[in-house]
Amino acid sequence: MEFLKFDPKLCSLCGECIKKCPFGAISMDKEGITMNENCRMCGICVRECPHQALHFEQKAGGEDKSKWKGILVYAELERGQIHPVVYELIGEARKLAAKVGYSVYGVMVGSEGTKEKAKRLLEYGVDEVFVYEHKGFEGFRADCYADAVADCISHLKPSVVLIGGTSLGRSLAPRLSTRFHTGLTADCTKLEMKDNTDLVQIRPAFGGNIMAQILITESRPQFATVRYKVMDKAEKVANPTGKVTMCPVTDIMVKSRIEVLSAQVLEHVKSIEEEDVLVVAGRGAQKAVEELSELAGLLGGQLCFTRPMVEAGYGDTAHQIGLSGRTVKPKLILTFGVSGAIQFTACMNGSECIVAVNQDEEAPIFKIASICIKDDLYQVLPALITELKNRKDGE
Ligand SMILES: Cc1cc2nc3c(=O)[nH]c(=O)nc-3n(C[C@H](O)[C@H](O)[C@H](O)COP(=O)(O)OP(=O)(O)OC[C@H]3O[C@@H](n4cnc5c(N)ncnc54)[C@H](O)[C@@H]3O)c2cc1C
Repeated sequence: MEFLKFDPKLCSLCGECIKKCPFGAISMDKEGITMNENCRMCGICVRECPHQALHFEQKAGGEDKSKWKGILVYAELERGQIHPVVYELIGEARKLAAKVGYSVYGVMVGSEGTKEKAKRLLEYGVDEVFVYEHKGFEGFRADCYADAVADCISHLKPSVVLIGGTSLGRSLAPRLSTRFHTGLTADCTKLEMKDNTDLVQIRPAFGGNIMAQILITESRPQFATVRYKVMDKAEKVANPTGKVTMCPVTDIMVKSRIEVLSAQVLEHVKSIEEEDVLVVAGRGAQKAVEELSELAGLLGGQLCFTRPMVEAGYGDTAHQIGLSGRTVKPKLILTFGVSGAIQFTACMNGSECIVAVNQDEEAPIFKIASICIKDDLYQVLPALITELKNRKDGE
């Protein structure tokens, strides 16, 4: 914890800060006052110190990089199941780790039964999974989960921490990077490892007009989040050799300042990220939304939209593809009346087969499409629907 400094000349070792710290983050030894990873930078100790011996030191860095080794993947549990993004992060972690000879670790936090789930990660080549299992971890509470993962990080000292760009991950990652006073790059679309262990975190910036390469050169660990369906899933290994390690859970870890008054489990609706087939309505298809919905149904997929269509009220943001929407990677995606702006294509160009219908032969979508149909969508669409219906009737 480099960011809270104490001045030995002013400190009288009265211990007032230790008494006042609500997180048990301060201890005293011969050297004076030291902070641990439980510190949440609440500033109470700074305010309460009678001698003004504590102050925030905002300068990051100066870490000895060689002391931070390995790649840690946060293994998120969603309704008790391993979130599929975890397998993608492991796949990416293994590629990055191979470049510099690092090990790949996992950390899993949850209630009873977490250890059994953690074992599944070993099949994907994870060297060691650290498990924080306690009934107090039932249901996500950001402060408790951050405490547990921070504990793992401070013991393990990984060079890189990868977290899924999920609702939970987006809450957890900034809390952790703040505690370790280091950098976090959200929603990376590509990661590369330099020989000196700096992680090149690549993501669209300035509205998708450039692909920024972001580096954390002075501090460790390097935090990055990656959305589901951006990276390839890890392959299973033939002879797993990894192990699961149970970690002690302290009372402080499970003590939350968040009180859950009630919780309601919503019915699981298949998200567009999970679909194999997607049909996209762009601004050129405003009068064909109903037909496109029918086409999506015939193909057994879902209808999605570009941002202007969502802004015009045709769909919700859960069905918007793009930088300010979702990233998808289906087996088949058909776009109708979509121009192919970078903010849209950056989040769907990993799809296996892209079929684009647009009447403008210069439309950028044709640069990434596997099948380009330069035509009026209002002609193509009814013909396609009729053909599919005929085939279904013939089955
Ligand atoms: C910071 C930022 C974030 C953004 N995030 C997103 C995002 O998440 N998702 C997103 O989609 N956009 C996003 N955008 C907007 C993006 O730049 C584009 O404006 C948008 O993707 C264009 O949507 P479109 O292709 O539906 O519309 P248009 O660009 O207007 O394209 C309509 C297309 O329809 C074709 N067309 C019209 N009539 C027919 C017809 N009869 N038959 C066949 N083709 C026809 C036209 O030739 C045209 O190519 C973002 C922009 C910024 C700056």
